Amino acid sequence: MPKQMQSTDKSPQTVILRLAVPSPLRRFFDYLPPKDLSLEAIEAIQPGMRVRVPFGPRALIAIVVSLESHTEVPQTKLRAALEILDVEPLLPKSLLGMFLWAAQYYQHPPGDVFQNMLPTLLRQGRPAKRPGNKVWQLSETGKALEDGDLRRAPRQREIVAFLKEHEALDKSAVTELDISASALIALQANGFIVMQEREVKSSSAHDAAHSSQQALELNQEQTNAVETIQQTLDGFTCHLLDGVTGSGKTEVYLQVIANVLAQSRQALVLVPEISLTPQTIARFRQRFKCRIAVLHSGLTDTERMQAWLEARDGIAQIVIGTRSALFTPLATPGLIILDEEHDSSFKQGEGFRYSARDLAIVRAQQEKIPIVLGSATPSLESLHNALSGRYTHLLLRERAGNAAPPVLKLIDTSHEVLQEGFSEPLLLQIRAHIQRGQQVLVFINRRGFAPTLQCGDCGWTAECNRCDARMTLHRSTPHLRCHHCDTRRPVDYFCPLCKSKNLHPIGLGTERSEAFLAQQFPATRVLRVDRDTTRRKNELDILLNEVHQGKPCILIGTQMLAKGHHFPNVTLVAVLDADAGLFSADFRGQEHTAQLLIQVAGRSGRAGAAGEVLIQTRHASHETLNSLVNEDYGHFARHLLQERHSTQMPPFSYLALFRAEALSPQAPETFLTMVQQMAYRIADEQGIEDVMLMGPLPAPMEKRNGKFRSQLLLQSTARPKLQQLLSLLCPQLEASKEARNARWSIDVDPQDMI
Ligand code: ADP
Ligand code: ZN
Ligand code: ZN
Repeated sequence: MPKQMQSTDKSPQTVILRLAVPSPLRRFFDYLPPKDLSLEAIEAIQPGMRVRVPFGPRALIAIVVSLESHTEVPQTKLRAALEILDVEPLLPKSLLGMFLWAAQYYQHPPGDVFQNMLPTLLRQGRPAKRPGNKVWQLSETGKALEDGDLRRAPRQREIVAFLKEHEALDKSAVTELDISASALIALQANGFIVMQEREVKSSSAHDAAHSSQQALELNQEQTNAVETIQQTLDGFTCHLLDGVTGSGKTEVYLQVIANVLAQSRQALVLVPEISLTPQTIARFRQRFKCRIAVLHSGLTDTERMQAWLEARDGIAQIVIGTRSALFTPLATPGLIILDEEHDSSFKQGEGFRYSARDLAIVRAQQEKIPIVLGSATPSLESLHNALSGRYTHLLLRERAGNAAPPVLKLIDTSHEVLQEGFSEPLLLQIRAHIQRGQQVLVFINRRGFAPTLQCGDCGWTAECNRCDARMTLHRSTPHLRCHHCDTRRPVDYFCPLCKSKNLHPIGLGTERSEAFLAQQFPATRVLRVDRDTTRRKNELDILLNEVHQGKPCILIGTQMLAKGHHFPNVTLVAVLDADAGLFSADFRGQEHTAQLLIQVAGRSGRAGAAGEVLIQTRHASHETLNSLVNEDYGHFARHLLQERHSTQMPPFSYLALFRAEALSPQAPETFLTMVQQMAYRIADEQGIEDVMLMGPLPAPMEKRNGKFRSQLLLQSTARPKLQQLLSLLCPQLEASKEARNARWSIDVDPQDMI
């Protein structure tokens, strides 16, 4: 197509809308503008706006990606859009840029990428308009209340105090601050407060940056980190804030954010699901008076859209949320913070398999702003980037305040007789800490009573019919449950093979350890924290509240306890079994186990008293484990990086994984063999060398949820080569007859290969 025609001729016939339409196809779709639109209206169409289009027999909401003057679609097949839904782009250019990058990089259907980015209501075509916000404010009589009034209604008094400081109380704050509805009603009935609907406005930069709570005085390393980040506020830089647990990373974030707010710019804070607790949010709310949009899973669709639009319009100056909050547009972006950057929850495990960490870096690049990745246990990828100078490496080596670092020790259990998983030395230590009036945390990475039920006579174990996995025994309501497909069945009464009644639980689980500890320490509270005891709303808060009261207790739990919590009175952390993770087949097994151990260890001794961490292992001379215990995570991680270098595994190479599954064992392998052939052919035709193909092989857990699974791994030391091959392979594959009849997926930079 001659250039001339592309740029000048703007008659309605030649404007083509290139759209991302919600469809499973890896391509864009071209449409004409709506038929009745004037020339001016057509010229006003911009990328980032939503349009309603006919798609097959249906009408769908799509988003404009670009405006073109030429299309491959024959005139007779070209359809017109039905309606333009926005008067201004819903997504700013920077986000659209990230969106296009992501669709290409992850080889994912663009329509589905965009579905992932928008709140449900906007996806459904709702107008992008902020609903009015109902707020409570003090009435004149309310303002006249003195401190001594309402003495007998402490919950009402709290609300009045809040309103004196904050001026208005909205619905989201009511839930977050756990404000009692009856107290609100009582205040309203007495005329102390009134409800008003009002347009939410942003606070002034001065107000926003003004702390209601004093900033802490930073130590030398913190000061250095804050200053370094500060100097880069005018462009893109990636910082790795590599600070031991309790070193005051959050204080660094808060102080940098204060500076960003003072420039009338916004901050986006991404945290793992598990850390998005009321305590985290409270820390931000206590520090800043500005409007904070919190994107958590409990929001209604309307609340989510509201938060999204408030961020887009610059009303909310701080946005805090989990993985998908990354897609929140910002009117005046200033900074992105991604806390616990090593956390696996930043990777979406199905559908659009993106890494929020990697995409956040792309976004910061697009927005021309700095990003801070924080962790006590950085991923090897990020550490490698910091060591090679691509990121700045900001180290906080010491705990903040006067907290001492925890001391780690191994307990060799290879020659010990264990009682329900506990060695004698460990029990002695638990007793000693409890007797000193302190708290103990016991970490065990498996919920339920025991990993399985076994027959003492013939060796039969209870297995899941739908997975290559054992059924976990649960006791609090007795049943067997598969943790992979959630199949449940009653506990067997006798062995289905030999009819023996000699069935017993084998292995460790949180319920079993809880029962054992309760019997060993009858006078001490034993609190179990796992997914089963915290299923209902507030259950976790109630448990944590009890711990925070500070009385001696034994906390037992899974990795839910490992992250983010601050337990000032926990002085002993016990890890019952470090071995499973260290010797897993996954090449990331050691890295993840070490991160988990250091994070759990980090829960101890966060106040004055030094913390002790005891790790039981049958491999006390294991080299990497010793490097972790006797040196620190940094040394350990460098050892691992050397290993990865010599085996040419990530971050020294790049991976992409094709997965396929089917009801018959043969089908996935046959399909992936076809993919492999196709890949070889393309590589040959295009002269793409340096991409290795491994497989197809059965997945480590071949059968899961009734399906047989197989995988094909692509590996290259040159990312562009791998990307080139994938961008040619995926569209061809998608167009093939076989692909239409198979269940398959592609995972670029896979995190696990189970
Ligand atoms: P991290 O996020 O690195 O685990 P936190 O930010 O939670 O660490 O800080 C741990 C504790 O140290 C908190 O109680 C915090 O208030 C305190 N703290 C942080 N910085 C300082 C400082 N400069 N002086 C005194 N205490 C501090
Ligand atoms: Zn048997
Ligand atoms: Zn199962």
